[in-house]
Amino acid sequence: MFIAGWMTAAAGLWRQGEEDPERPVRVPVPVYLIETDTQRILIDTGLHPAAVADADAHYGQPNTLALFAPEQEQSVADQIDLATVTKVVLTHLHFDHAGALSLVPMSVPLVIQRSEWNAGHDDAAVRRNFLFPDDYAGSEREIVLVDGDHDLLGDGSIELLLTPGHTPGHQSVRAGDLVIGADVVHFASGLDDHRFPAFGDDLAAQGRSADRLRELRDGGLTVRPGHDPDVLRAGPVTA
Ligand SMILES: [Zn+2]
Repeated sequence: MFIAGWMTAAAGLWRQGEEDPERPVRVPVPVYLIETDTQRILIDTGLHPAAVADADAHYGQPNTLALFAPEQEQSVADQIDLATVTKVVLTHLHFDHAGALSLVPMSVPLVIQRSEWNAGHDDAAVRRNFLFPDDYAGSEREIVLVDGDHDLLGDGSIELLLTPGHTPGHQSVRAGDLVIGADVVHFASGLDDHRFPAFGDDLAAQGRSADRLRELRDGGLTVRPGHDPDVLRAGPVTA
């Protein structure tokens, strides 16, 4: 796991039901690299350095990321040789996950849920989900659209799990006994308390996705939350 940025926002934005909702809470933006004998699979891309430097200029619109106070020490490109990546998987299209996709060479195929990709190209869904189409624009890249759970390499080792709710086609990634839950829950406690962020596409669906990941956790798998500063540490990850 690498940290490809930080965001600071009001506690009540990250998690409903906070006692002090205005308290600023700083959270990491993780990306993962899964290495096999033949593959180097990038899971999410983090913040784009230009968006951190000047979000309004990068996205060409005013007041874009002010709520999130983005920071970055090192981008994904500073930490991973992106020329060696064989696939990029996006858990969903939010700017803290898809933002640096353009830094990944166009020869690297993108794997994403069809429902997420469709939402990213629907004006109403873009507005509702706070998406920036510039993050995933460009027609040169091969887009591999997946419908539901998907055996990524065909050998059962890495499985994409459709876990919608936070966004329409959000997916998680299971690699062995490890589950990269992404933003099904921002904080590990969310699997049990369902205190999701104040924003989200479908909170009922998100609750069902959290229940699914909780069952995997209770069955012995390790589930990584999306942005929990108490859990996420850069470095090798073991289940
Ligand atoms: Zn996120």
